[in-house]
Amino acid sequence: MEYFDMIKRYDYEKISIIQNRKAKLFAIDAIHDTTRGPAVGGTRLMKYQSEEDALIDALKLSRAMTYKNVAAGLNCGGGKTVIMDIEGMDKKLTLQTVGRYIESLHGRRYTGRDLGISTEDINIMRTETKWVADETSSGVGDLSEATAFGVLQGIRACLAEADGNESLEGRCVAVQGAGEVGYWVVKYAIENGAKVTIADIDQKAIEKTMKEFPITVVTPDQIYEVDCDVFSPCAIGGIINPETVQKFRCKIVAGSANNALATHEDGMALFDRGITYAPDYIINAGALIQWWYKQKIYEVKERIDARDAIRNLYNVIRDILKKSKEKKLAPSILADEYAESKLKKEKTYVDINWGVEQ
Ligand code: NAD
Repeated sequence: MEYFDMIKRYDYEKISIIQNRKAKLFAIDAIHDTTRGPAVGGTRLMKYQSEEDALIDALKLSRAMTYKNVAAGLNCGGGKTVIMDIEGMDKKLTLQTVGRYIESLHGRRYTGRDLGISTEDINIMRTETKWVADETSSGVGDLSEATAFGVLQGIRACLAEADGNESLEGRCVAVQGAGEVGYWVVKYAIENGAKVTIADIDQKAIEKTMKEFPITVVTPDQIYEVDCDVFSPCAIGGIINPETVQKFRCKIVAGSANNALATHEDGMALFDRGITYAPDYIINAGALIQWWYKQKIYEVKERIDARDAIRNLYNVIRDILKKSKEKKLAPSILADEYAESKLKKEKTYVDINWGVEQ
């Protein structure tokens, strides 16, 4: 019973099954932890081999959201809803049913877009609940830019730790993916004096970036082997794996891509090669931080400048890199330990009144 062990070991608060036979809906909502505040995390719609696979995904993703929020210093916890993509499913009724479930939690859970869920889908959920948001919610600003600003802080922290000089002046940065975030990473790197090489599978993204910045372009296969200071993955997950780890000719890997490491072992392989790595869910927390401080639905005790909070990712990452050196363990492992130990100190009781639902 792999999942029951996981539920007990990581102290999950609440796991619910949401069903509606008419809609062919089977979904799982996991609330990992609300010690710091509402369980924030998106709703995902995808094909799963089995209900167990969906449950494991909800458990892993909701816990990752808790850790991300703790590391980012936000007063919220982690949750995730996964909907099984079943043939013949009534999508509208599905989204309405999930929306109604989220509403029944009275703000203990706050959800948004994840894989397979569009802005239109969010609008359907919104007819049933106010506890849903996406990047179109008013006043949150350009979230991809905020993510890239966080990546810049992470790159500086890694440079400072790796060779005692955090400046990007004269550095070579290789950016994988020139999409929403990659574009801004290129811009910030160039503005800070770096030379940039990019790769993208989409010619349009390359052309847009080339039009604006003096960059070198290589093929998607070549990007791993660019001789550079920083490799910045801003495309897809799983790109740090046994094959690529041996190819890298960089000092640092620091970018926005979620789940950049295929496994923790690949994090150790990077560490053993002396490559400094900024844990993904910390370095890419800029959008989440900006959204949290700018959203209006929750009472945020201190509405500090989101920019300052994103800048603080520099300190969090440096702290983790220092511990990684001391303990001779990969930063990805230390990142989880960092969040777990902070949470343990705080987890005395849950003191938030979630309306009538307790
Ligand atoms: P995006 O889809 O706008 O851009 C990704 C780019 O990568 C695209 O241009 C795509 O063509 C390119 N790409 C895909 N596969 C590639 C490959 N094999 N080689 C080279 N290029 C490839 O996505 P985004 O919003 O810029 O996000 C990038 C990454 O950062 C994702 O992993 C995302 O989950 C993560 N992230 C994004 C945000 C955000 O604010 N947008 C926040 C946190 C994490």
